[in-house]
Amino acid sequence: MSPKNIVVLYWHRTDLRLHDSPALHAALALNPSIFIPVWTWDPHYVYHSRVGANRWQFLLECQTSLSNSYKSLNPNQQLWVVREGPTTVLPKLWKIWGVTHLVFETDTDSYARSRDGEVQQLAKEAGVEVIIRMGRNLFDPDELVRKNGGKATMSISQVERAAEKINGGEPAKPLAGPKEIPDAWGIEKMKEVEAIKTEKIDATPDLNAEVRGGVENQYERITGPKGDFGVPTLKEIGISESSVTTPHRGGEEVALKILKECVEDEEYVGRFEKPNTSPADFEPQSTTLLSPHLHFGSLSVRKFWWDVQHVLEKRKGAKKPTSSVPTNLPGQLLFRDMYFAAQAAVGPAFATTRGNPVVRLIDWHLQSKNLEKDGTDDKRGDGTREYTVDSPEAEEWFTRWKEGRTGFPWIDALMRQLKQEGWIHHLGRHSVACFLTRGGCYVSWERGAEVFEELLIDHETACNVGNWMWLSCTAFFAQFYRCYSPIAFGKKWDPQGDLIRKYVPELAEFDKKYIYEPWKAPIADQKKWGCRVTGDGSISKSEDGQTYPKPMFDFDKRRQICLDSMKSAYDVGLHGADKDVMNGSWEKK
Ligand code: FAD
Repeated sequence: MSPKNIVVLYWHRTDLRLHDSPALHAALALNPSIFIPVWTWDPHYVYHSRVGANRWQFLLECQTSLSNSYKSLNPNQQLWVVREGPTTVLPKLWKIWGVTHLVFETDTDSYARSRDGEVQQLAKEAGVEVIIRMGRNLFDPDELVRKNGGKATMSISQVERAAEKINGGEPAKPLAGPKEIPDAWGIEKMKEVEAIKTEKIDATPDLNAEVRGGVENQYERITGPKGDFGVPTLKEIGISESSVTTPHRGGEEVALKILKECVEDEEYVGRFEKPNTSPADFEPQSTTLLSPHLHFGSLSVRKFWWDVQHVLEKRKGAKKPTSSVPTNLPGQLLFRDMYFAAQAAVGPAFATTRGNPVVRLIDWHLQSKNLEKDGTDDKRGDGTREYTVDSPEAEEWFTRWKEGRTGFPWIDALMRQLKQEGWIHHLGRHSVACFLTRGGCYVSWERGAEVFEELLIDHETACNVGNWMWLSCTAFFAQFYRCYSPIAFGKKWDPQGDLIRKYVPELAEFDKKYIYEPWKAPIADQKKWGCRVTGDGSISKSEDGQTYPKPMFDFDKRRQICLDSMKSAYDVGLHGADKDVMNGSWEKK
């Protein structure tokens, strides 16, 4: 085929960037006469996932940044945002625009695999050639699994050994971004898609009704309200601007700037030891905060790896010791790959207990109820789950945890930071996840993971559920007797309680002696500091000032109950894919 007949539809999904994108590189290497970079509005993302306003905003900023980058290389170009699901809209676009090649980055998430399989089949039937390249991870997750004997990667050393067999443990070197971009069709031909009558997506009774309402209107037209395939505004997708509260900004330019500043500080990179970074630091935080950029692909993980690696190489022989895997920065990126490969090996059951061969079964208070025997848990088809509540008390604890009113200021500060900003430090995530599960409430890790899914701007299914399993000691980590105290752990990092003062402002005036245990402060002091510690779990304002709740339980007692229960569950030794679990008989044990 001569280049003049080559029409490439480039499908952006997990790679909202121009730098180091192997798939984009492959697409441009075809030397197409027409190149159409699109983003398709995926109903799975819109309806079935829990996406909070902060993550929406971050996504739109990444899209805007990418669109601007295209425009700067070719004034006739942009990111063409198509408002319809890929499996229905792509075949129509191939036909209308005469597409010869479809190119995209590999996505090994379970939903993406089935969607992409369907798209590939449709492309085959339409005679469109499909080109797929890996660029989302350091190492291809499927390849890591193969090199790990076909098994899920459950430790960093397994990942290191498997990676060693791929390329001597070295990820591929980053590719330069394009210097020029071919034209898309003229706007008139692009707009021919307006003639397509789009079906309305079934409204499903899930959360995000606010979002759904806005998007349904958009489905009326593929090209957006202005008919220009532009990046939607928050208003268009039904989210009020006031619900966006994160200070963290999206986009390739922002990501590259953060990385540059990080690697320019060679001392920081060289001495980075994750366990020594403080969960209480904010403005600036103690770790890179590049996770949302890796999630949306506004930063290439291989560029991150190599830029850091160059600094570590330079520092070899430096007087001050250089940290090593798994605590250094490359080690952090290997953890990311570990969870991706574990998910790739297990499949859809990785995100649940039922059917999951790597997860240990614990008799948590709240158990999933609407599970199918085949291991999927999406019976209603809308991504939500139902739970039997065997303890109304635990349900109350869960709600108070989620809303940041447990009465433990360290936990509440972190949960409010998460809600407000969409990001908290890794050890902050440790604290709140341990507290909800094996170190306090004894509530299922799946419920905690759902809250994180909604609130995190860096939400990544593999990393989220993988880390929840780790923290709840259901997989990856088994030392359940090592538990985070909601008082002593925070105090160790932040004796003055600055994180609490910022995110739990009602306690801002408390003396540091009481900031982690305000219920111990004398009433006269509570009055003096403008906040009364009360018993009803609420936070309110009265003439006497504000109120803050008493702790929702005696932590030491709860810790002992959790430890005893974990020990019993470990003694029973069932896993999520055991026969007893699959047929429900474990519930009687
Ligand atoms: P840095 O310390 O600067 O690390 C650099 C990069 O390494 C991160 O951006 C991230 O991509 C990767 N990384 C670091 N630690 C981990 C880890 N333990 N697991 C996987 N990747 C890691 N991370 C997500 O990206 N998405 C999630 O949805 C997510 N959910 C989590 C849920 C729980 C309960 C816990 C305990 C951790 C979760 N993590 C998740 C992992 C980790 O907390 C974040 O990746 C990290 O805090 C992001 O901040 P950073 O970019 O400053 O990390």
